[in-house]
Amino acid sequence: MHIRALVLENFKSFGRKTRIPFYEDFTTVSGPNGSGKSNIIDSVLFALGLARARGIRAEKLTDLIYNPGHDGTDSQEGPREASVEVVLDNTDGTLAREQVVSAAGSEDIGDVETISVRRRVKRTEDNYYSYYYLNDRSVNLSDIQDLLAQAGVTPEGYNVVMQGDVTGIINMTAGQRREIIDEIAGVAEFDAKKESAFEE
Ligand code: ATP
Ligand code: MG
Repeated sequence: MHIRALVLENFKSFGRKTRIPFYEDFTTVSGPNGSGKSNIIDSVLFALGLARARGIRAEKLTDLIYNPGHDGTDSQEGPREASVEVVLDNTDGTLAREQVVSAAGSEDIGDVETISVRRRVKRTEDNYYSYYYLNDRSVNLSDIQDLLAQAGVTPEGYNVVMQGDVTGIINMTAGQRREIIDEIAGVAEFDAKKESAFEE
């Protein structure tokens, strides 16, 4: 399974509806400083509900809504809603239809060769609301997270490597680096279980 495309609407610097295609093996995004490259990564973290663990760069959710006068004028003037859709290519059958049906809580989800995960954030005068959709069915964050976990995408995982992470890994002690490798290899889970077994 891989990301086929992202559709951003009023997300951060993307004030116009923007569809960004991703290729199966490798896609790079290049552009000058401040042009929105990292905002694209933020959009994936936002939509897939991975944001809290991997450190999205925004103080509050409503900062993610496109603000025409960013770094200046009043944000109340801009759009009231942002949306990010992550279109996943599931043609390799990473997720079975039953798994998607169960997460969406509905049989009416179209074919699952394509899985669409969408999140919206909407602001009102004094509050904000967040909504998740799986193939256009309204769902909870936990439904999305449970489904993605079955495809090996978890908030604690290393599916996303942030700016600075590589330097962080280089500067670690050998022992700390080993912990990361254990985590990726899935050994860390057993270490934790072993430890709690010894405690008992
Ligand atoms: P670098 O090469 O320096 O890492 P980058 O391409 O990764 O740059 P980003 O950090 O993705 O750049 O984009 C930063 C830009 O996004 C800034 O110009 C900032 O003003 C703009 N931005 C962030 N949030 C919003 C928002 N809510 N509305 C409008 N623009 C925003
Ligand atoms: Mg960047």
